[in-house]
Amino acid sequence: MSINLQSHVFAGNPLTSKSSNPANPFSPTTGLETIKARLLGNTQSASSSNFKVLLFSRGRPLASSVSVSVDSPPIWNLGWIILDDLIGLLESAGVHLNGDQFVYLGSRADDDVAYWATDVSAERNLMPLLRNKQLCFVELRTLMVATDWADLHAMGNLAIAGHARALLEWHNLSRFCGHCGEKTLPIDAGRRKRCSNESCKKKIYPRVDPVVIMLVIDRENDRALLSKQSRFVPRMWSCLAGFIEPGESLEEAVRRETQEETGIEVGEVVYSSSQPWPVGPNNMPCQLMIGFFAYAKSLEINVDKKELEDAEWHSRESVRKALTYAEYKKAQSTAAAKVEQMCKGVEKNQSLAADFNVESGELAPMFVPGPFAIAHHLISSWAFQDRVNNSDEGHSKQPRDSLSNL
Ligand SMILES: [Zn+2]
Repeated sequence: MSINLQSHVFAGNPLTSKSSNPANPFSPTTGLETIKARLLGNTQSASSSNFKVLLFSRGRPLASSVSVSVDSPPIWNLGWIILDDLIGLLESAGVHLNGDQFVYLGSRADDDVAYWATDVSAERNLMPLLRNKQLCFVELRTLMVATDWADLHAMGNLAIAGHARALLEWHNLSRFCGHCGEKTLPIDAGRRKRCSNESCKKKIYPRVDPVVIMLVIDRENDRALLSKQSRFVPRMWSCLAGFIEPGESLEEAVRRETQEETGIEVGEVVYSSSQPWPVGPNNMPCQLMIGFFAYAKSLEINVDKKELEDAEWHSRESVRKALTYAEYKKAQSTAAAKVEQMCKGVEKNQSLAADFNVESGELAPMFVPGPFAIAHHLISSWAFQDRVNNSDEGHSKQPRDSLSNL
């Protein structure tokens, strides 16, 4: 079964940084001036009701959750706070923010609200007040698993939160100039930074780390190569992936990584699609997963045990069985219940709903990552590709895949 997505999770951000909406009178820079004035207590400045702020703590966005019916999982939402309300909360908590750490996220085409984010990890006094409002900081990965991938609004929220998290984490990692070592300062409403050293003034841009991710295919025997890593949950198999070396093309990176990790030689490399991935390692605020189909020229596997736990060829039939739709729905409802429990406040001695590792399921002897990951779509588009189509050099055609309209 293939799962219909409009775009990959974390792509398709509904906020745009350049608003064409004439009802929005604020450029990002003048908007930030207004926010700073309001935070200083200047109530004469322009109305701040059309400023909404998303708070983050330790990389986690503020979220809320509602239960709509007993038959369906709870639905999470981003915990946007109108600037005036945020100022009230800050006053109650005795917290002072000067606005320097606010980053502009953009605005929608159809409203006059400017959306912002800021990190309040250090403001412990704020936390109980947010909890009283049934708002809670939740790991973005948990929200990702908890999302109904058919819900476009929720998918948009994931993209917004992913972008905001990537920007804020990049701010944390770029506090000093790599050129002269002086402090950096945010400019352009937090979307860029500049060295504070007048004789340097180096401009620093948000960072994206590209990663190649590939499904290696044995065309003759109709099999795909899947690998296991020790950090994976048990019985999970996925695509190979790796970083690109300086001076290397994407195709070369696909061939080199496959060769290094499994000893398999790759010939033709075909691009599929790409996915922003703001939930990778902490030192990489936003990875860009660039997905390929890679056609094997040799078939003997020689696993580099330092990189992988195992790698095996899997038949199309066994891969289809591993793509068990019911298990992904189960993982989603479990994660959604966990978010609900966190937002509604779970006593310390009560346990949360089990983590999404339960997606390892009870039915399948193996499974592949859920629909939130590009690996899922590389694997499922191959697994559900028409056999006749494939034997007829189908690789050169667009796979009959849920993402073929990207
Ligand atoms: Zn500098």
